[in-house]
Amino acid sequence: MTKHIFITGGVVSSLGKGLTSAAIGALLELHGLRIRLQKLDPYLNVDPGTMNPFQHGEVYVTDDGAETDLDLGHYERFTGTVCTRESNYTSGGIYETVINRERRGEYLGGTVQVVPHITDEIKAAVRALAGDDVDIVITEIGGTVGDIEGEPFLEAIRQFRQDAGRANVLYIHLTLVPYIRAAGEIKTKPTQHSVGRLMEKGIQPDIIICRTEQPLTREVRDKISLFCNVPAAAVIEERDVQVSIYELPIVLRREGLDERILSELGMDGREPDISQWEKIADIIANPDDEVEIAVVGKYIRLQDSYKSVYEALTHGGIGNHLGVKLRRIESEQIEKEGAEELLAGAHGVLVPGGFGVRGIEGKLEAIRYARENNVPFFGICLGMQCAVIEFARNVLALKNANSLEFDDTTTTAVITLMDEQRNVVDMGGTMRLGAFPCVIGKGSLAAQAYGSLETSERHRHRFEFNNAYREHYANGGFAFSGLSPDGKLVEILELSGHPWFLAVQFHPEFKSKPHAPHPLFRAFVQAARERKDTRK
Ligand code: GLN
Repeated sequence: MTKHIFITGGVVSSLGKGLTSAAIGALLELHGLRIRLQKLDPYLNVDPGTMNPFQHGEVYVTDDGAETDLDLGHYERFTGTVCTRESNYTSGGIYETVINRERRGEYLGGTVQVVPHITDEIKAAVRALAGDDVDIVITEIGGTVGDIEGEPFLEAIRQFRQDAGRANVLYIHLTLVPYIRAAGEIKTKPTQHSVGRLMEKGIQPDIIICRTEQPLTREVRDKISLFCNVPAAAVIEERDVQVSIYELPIVLRREGLDERILSELGMDGREPDISQWEKIADIIANPDDEVEIAVVGKYIRLQDSYKSVYEALTHGGIGNHLGVKLRRIESEQIEKEGAEELLAGAHGVLVPGGFGVRGIEGKLEAIRYARENNVPFFGICLGMQCAVIEFARNVLALKNANSLEFDDTTTTAVITLMDEQRNVVDMGGTMRLGAFPCVIGKGSLAAQAYGSLETSERHRHRFEFNNAYREHYANGGFAFSGLSPDGKLVEILELSGHPWFLAVQFHPEFKSKPHAPHPLFRAFVQAARERKDTRK
């Protein structure tokens, strides 16, 4: 029988609930348990696919083509779990299902209500992940306790314990214990209030994890224990990690969180071996050397917008025993100050995915700079499309080359709309989404990196390389080193005569893990190191 852990957050948002959930998953896997992770988001968008990255950060894409919350990226990076459409639900999606059912008359004339119809639907979404092949489902509830829109989710998970039995459900509450500098004290009151709020909803947390800058003293633990009605041993300190997020499983294990969870759920697993996480943390803390990678995008000022790209670069570094220093550059800044000025000294340039025309000229300039100066270049999705446009304009003398996305009247659409996208009107969930196979050309940089002539990568785009121009590019020195199996869609491009210039139509960053760096990120970081070494 599958057991369930529900993770709620209190006091403030951005406490790292997703990371904590992922780290808990990682620890339970070390005990030999089979886990799945899930996120329930209280907002009304049906999924985050149509949301601006400034609002919501990166949209994470699963193999089965769901556009999901970026916390699922943490789940897949930290654990062996494979996320699917069922790993992320929003209020919008839940309501949509219930309302569609009501329209079909399936409630037989009954009054449709938040309780029980919405809460039933939420519980069904949680149960959908349970099964014979899973020991524990970890469900993270988005938002903060006390949010109006979160109420049906709290009600649903309260009911869940009644349905599944007390012993099969565990509630973990993540909260902030702030340090008040002026008083030189850490304060438990916000946690008391937040747990009080939860208890009003009928949920008594079994474990309280406290995000804190300062160590929790015995006194503070006792106070939380007393006021929040949990044993002191169930008050877990989650101190800010020093160097990297991959220390988190180590930090939480040191606090005994995994053992506490297992004893609360009446389970036991094998003795865990934390050394693989220690190894990762050690490489990150003590790299052989460091390379500097410039990432040129338009949502640069928000850390979360390119989350998986940044993580995959770190992994590429781990794979080479190198640190990766990011130089995050707003592409519009390049338009003002010039690529020469802003990219000088970078050992690699990466242009990530994106949408819309703003900042495009700056990206093109960054690519020109990398191409002309033999700086390793990695283009991802929109980054590939920009590399195609840049080459057309500056090398192939196709002065008006553009993507149909940026100019739908262009007569030189080197990037064009995919056929199946031509009549699409709905914006949500209608792109080319999810995993597609890719055939890799022999002798290419890609083949070298993957060590294989086929792969599967995740996509999220409407536009593609225009095949009418293939010959132009081949004559100009481009190799189409990755194609869809029918040969019709260009998936990987590389430029000969350049040390490492590779661009992909897919999003390799979604499949990179600290223990298994994505081959292209590993190869890109290696190329950056070679660049650095030759410049010395
Ligand atoms: N906007 C481009 C397209 O839709 C690229 C998308 C992306 O980078 N994810 O094709």
